[in-house]
Amino acid sequence: MAKRLFTFMRGTADRTADPAEALGLKGSNLALLASLDLPVPPGFTISTSAWREAEGNETLPPALRNEVLAAIEWLERVTGRTLDGAQKPLLLAVRTSARSVMPGLADSVLDLGLNSRTVELLARELGDVGFAFRAYRRFIESYCSLIHAVDTSDFEEVAETERVRAGWQGDEPHSLVDWRGLIAAYLRFVEDEVGSPMPQTPLEQLYQVIDASFASWRGPVARAFRLAHGIAENAGVAVTVHAMIFNERGEKSGTGRALSRDLKTGEPRLTGEFVFGNRDGASPAGVSEPLSLQRIDAEPELFPADLRALTDYVRRIEAHVGDATEVDFMVGDGELFFLQSRIARRNVAEAIRVAVEMVREGQIAEEDALLRIEPSSLDQLLHPTIERGEEVLVIAKGMPASPGAASGEIVFSSERAIAVAAEGRKTILVRNETLPEDVHGMHVTEGVLTVRGGTTSHAAVVARGIGKPCVTGAGSLRINQEAGTVIALGRTLRAGDQITIDGTSGEVILGSPKLKRPSLTGDFATLMSFADRARRMEVRTNAETPAEARAARAFGAEGIGLCRTEHMFFEGERISMMREMILASDEAGRRAALERLLPIQRSDFIELFEIMAGMPVTIRLLDPPLHEFLPKGEQEISETAVMLSMSPAVVAERIEALHEFNPMLGHRGCRLAISHPEIVEMQARAIFEAAIEAGERKGKAVVPEIMVPLVGLRRELDFVKARIERIAELVKQERGKSVDYLVGTMIELPRAIVRADTIAEVADFFSFGTNDLTQTVYGISRDDAANFLSTYERQGIIERDPFQSLDIEGVGELIAMGVEKARRTRPDISLGVCGEQGGDPNSIAFFERTGLDYVSCSPYRVPIARLAAAQAAIRFERALRAAAAPKTRGRH
Ligand code: PEP
Ligand code: MG
Repeated sequence: MAKRLFTFMRGTADRTADPAEALGLKGSNLALLASLDLPVPPGFTISTSAWREAEGNETLPPALRNEVLAAIEWLERVTGRTLDGAQKPLLLAVRTSARSVMPGLADSVLDLGLNSRTVELLARELGDVGFAFRAYRRFIESYCSLIHAVDTSDFEEVAETERVRAGWQGDEPHSLVDWRGLIAAYLRFVEDEVGSPMPQTPLEQLYQVIDASFASWRGPVARAFRLAHGIAENAGVAVTVHAMIFNERGEKSGTGRALSRDLKTGEPRLTGEFVFGNRDGASPAGVSEPLSLQRIDAEPELFPADLRALTDYVRRIEAHVGDATEVDFMVGDGELFFLQSRIARRNVAEAIRVAVEMVREGQIAEEDALLRIEPSSLDQLLHPTIERGEEVLVIAKGMPASPGAASGEIVFSSERAIAVAAEGRKTILVRNETLPEDVHGMHVTEGVLTVRGGTTSHAAVVARGIGKPCVTGAGSLRINQEAGTVIALGRTLRAGDQITIDGTSGEVILGSPKLKRPSLTGDFATLMSFADRARRMEVRTNAETPAEARAARAFGAEGIGLCRTEHMFFEGERISMMREMILASDEAGRRAALERLLPIQRSDFIELFEIMAGMPVTIRLLDPPLHEFLPKGEQEISETAVMLSMSPAVVAERIEALHEFNPMLGHRGCRLAISHPEIVEMQARAIFEAAIEAGERKGKAVVPEIMVPLVGLRRELDFVKARIERIAELVKQERGKSVDYLVGTMIELPRAIVRADTIAEVADFFSFGTNDLTQTVYGISRDDAANFLSTYERQGIIERDPFQSLDIEGVGELIAMGVEKARRTRPDISLGVCGEQGGDPNSIAFFERTGLDYVSCSPYRVPIARLAAAQAAIRFERALRAAAAPKTRGRH
């Protein structure tokens, strides 16, 4: 049988291999503090193994009772007090905890040991009737709440009746007689409620409290929490029992919280606060009103206990855990005790400050600093956030599709967004869903809110790319486009009303609360430089506009991993040229329109090449089905017809002809390039000519990477590649200059994975398009997934949305297979990922293990990816070393 009980007192604690697992957070922490020779109240922890042993029993097993009894006898010896004993009563605190913080577990029970006899002994010993009886009253309340689920407000009623009967004033009695009367009333009430008198033997009470604390593990709140957080049902709770400290008595007693550092500056300087003094007049529930709270750093001379000792102790904990530490302490009659320590709670900016400072002091290594910061928490620093502490009214909730907060007046169309922006006002574009032609509106709006769609819907992908906050799938909203209203939480909002969206939480908020702007210098930049030294994978960005490319470079991107060229065709005049090309009835017509798009496309690429200054730029050929570019609705169709001098009927006919039942699986990607090679030819020409021109301007050759989307067959790539090569040759002849370039493909189809070895023979690089790959592996439409995947998550069928965080065991397994096959035929092939998961820390850890060369993500996720890639490299390296260690030892 594993050890049931672990004792601790200052200077010594029973050891165990995994303290948090065996003793819970509270027990393991007290054991740690005791072993660091900090003053802690003596006590013992009943382990999770003992909990497992008792599980399913009606009462505590006799063996456990005996051990508890022996531990109490030990505690009586070391404290010189006795439980239910002769003169000086031993009072106990009973605290329940698991290895991680868990709601629903038993609240602490304090002052166990008091009964109607010992309370009098304590009052006499301390010469303080109020203190002793107040403690007893509090004990009865918490004991009955835990064991019999009696509501504490019932006790308030009992006290009120007793107050009226006995005639005392205020919250509590002032004489011994009145206190006795109140306690007698309490005990009568408990007997009436429960049907039997409250046990008066402290040991029996202790057994019951332990039993109820054990049982709290099975409560519905704790169980739901475990289910949501994947915590094993048999992990169990531990119960810590320790001597009470009389910290609420007199001028020399008090409670405080101290931090080993000033979190604002990171300096090793004790900060925190404490409260001292008598608690006469505490409320019936025993909750003391804070006396005047003193700051530790400001007024050390007011501190009655020895501040120097406190500083030394807190330093000792910090040196042991290697991180800024926060402690709860108590002073009982001038004597200092520690009850709990933890890593200091802080926001992400403070966490970075402290980590960087500790590296500077030589206390921790850069790697440790990196591992301490949760990559996704950087989001709070990269985007505007709502000022903390502001009261806000949340009127809807959707998917957090693109992070950051933004406020503006409601507009229901891109045209309106543009018009309002032209008047210098900020907008939030509110749509059922966005379409490609909304892109220009999305560029001028502050944020995008859609009723439908998930985190890879059009709105989400575009918004992330351009760094605009976006909330999608806010299904409770009802838009009435004609009336220009949206109904949210029963309120009718109109165009022009102010709202705020928080794309980090998915909340939609009424009005415009104060927003905080990000700053990316100082400690943040230092941490990023640590990350760049530690990581192996490159971090590129998904960007197509100059603004995105510049933002990505400012965030530290090392190239463009995906330039979605279709996004370049939506703005201004371009969409009508695109429409002209698509609506042309023959190749000649298409070529004429493409001729006009060529210079535009070429100048876009020149700008991108120049901004990226020699870094890799991966340009993907046109991917989406053509009808995405076409006008929708009668009005738009007739406008297009006028613009292109066509009849509306012909336009409508052509649109009808292009209609597809499953466009995502239809005429898109390289299939377009094969049926309309003139599109590839125009794009390849634009790329080569731009490379020559940008190279000449900068005096450094540009090596473009041309990426073919949605390849499933090697011959598809052969076909498209041959066209690209032909254009390269033509441009060389025309310009008298050749361009070095790479041709690679996206891997987005299961077939491409299975045939990765043969496809790799003709591809210089692969970029795993995990958005489409997830869609095609699961057979789940990425645009419709939000409608049911949230239910899947709620039902525990999936843990995470695979469109946000890679499904490692399914899609990931296939990627690993593709990597292995590709490297088999082409060991030096460059391998990356450019789906949304490329910016997700968990997925990045997998890409590191799988040996990808780079990840590519939207500009605003680049810092997150840099940190996540560094952490992944550190952890992977450590795991490899750990796995190799026993073998190395064996050899010596
Ligand atoms: C992908 O499919 O993962 C990808 C990056 O391409 P897109 O999202 O443009 O389809
Ligand atoms: Mg794709």
